[in-house]
Amino acid sequence: MVKNISVIGAGTMGNGIAHVFAQHDFNVALIDVSAPALESALATIAKNLDRLMTKGTLTEVEKKSTLANIQTFTDLKTGVATADVVVEAATENADLKLKIFKDLEAFTPPEAILASNTSSISITRIAAATNRPGQVIGMHFMNPVPIMKLVEVIRGYATSPEVTATVMDLAKKLGKMPTEVNDYPGFIANRILMPMLNEAIYALYEGVAGVEEIDTVMKLGMAHPMGPLQLADFIGLDVCLFILKVMQDGFGHPKYAPCPLLVNMVQAGHLGVKSGKGFYTYTAGSKDLLVAEQFRR
Ligand code: NAD
Repeated sequence: MVKNISVIGAGTMGNGIAHVFAQHDFNVALIDVSAPALESALATIAKNLDRLMTKGTLTEVEKKSTLANIQTFTDLKTGVATADVVVEAATENADLKLKIFKDLEAFTPPEAILASNTSSISITRIAAATNRPGQVIGMHFMNPVPIMKLVEVIRGYATSPEVTATVMDLAKKLGKMPTEVNDYPGFIANRILMPMLNEAIYALYEGVAGVEEIDTVMKLGMAHPMGPLQLADFIGLDVCLFILKVMQDGFGHPKYAPCPLLVNMVQAGHLGVKSGKGFYTYTAGSKDLLVAEQFRR
């Protein structure tokens, strides 16, 4: 039975993943190389639990027990020593993930399942770095993790059916809706989302319409909660570019080629919300969505 979960990486995704497992009564070891990242993750989790209490969906006792279920570690070896399942959510970098999985092979119990939350790196490639590829799988949560229902469960080329079934069941225990997909570039979510965002950027680049018009068409016409340009800013334009390149390389098809405007914006350091500037500008404290100067008519 799965009880002990180790989450590697306490950033945007790692803190959310630790939160949902802890809230569903799993023992969580949250691991990060950065002690400040662990501190800030615990503060974020406490703040998100407070929000649930304000909404009346969580009691004070449940908040306390959720926080008590989380232990933090800066040392990987200690943090994964008793893991039934590891969910790796460290920085999106292939060499880093291959190294982490090689270490996991040495530090985890032999029957442990090793999952990655990667958005774009091949699960089959990560699995091949270990001596137990049958136990390596993708568990792709969506941001923000406590709110979003979907978990893409990605079967690598060698992932065993038993491991897939265990992870599907585990995601259901978190109140999520897991969806099984095979390991090909972009999986399903990004394979469909990224070309749409890229097309919106092309429409802007070619002068078909402005930033607000493109986002308005998709919000009001397609009932999307956020327009594609705003969503690209939210995800991070560097992340979008990286995933498009993975798909372009992986499929060798020009339809995934990133728009030159996206490439330019990333090179200029206009990365969206995280840099304060993308298709919109983000001023601290302001709730207004302001189109960035470059795109004003
Ligand atoms: P992030 O930059 O917010 O956090 C990454 C964390 O990993 C940092 O705190 C960093 O200190 C830590 N880290 C780096 N090397 C480490 C190591 N060797 N051991 C332990 N910790 C280490 O990144 P994020 O946005 O949370 O993304 C994490 C993963 O989740 C990536 O693989 C990303 O592709 C994937 N993902 C991100 C999103 C998203 O919307 N942000 C959505 C789905 C999946």
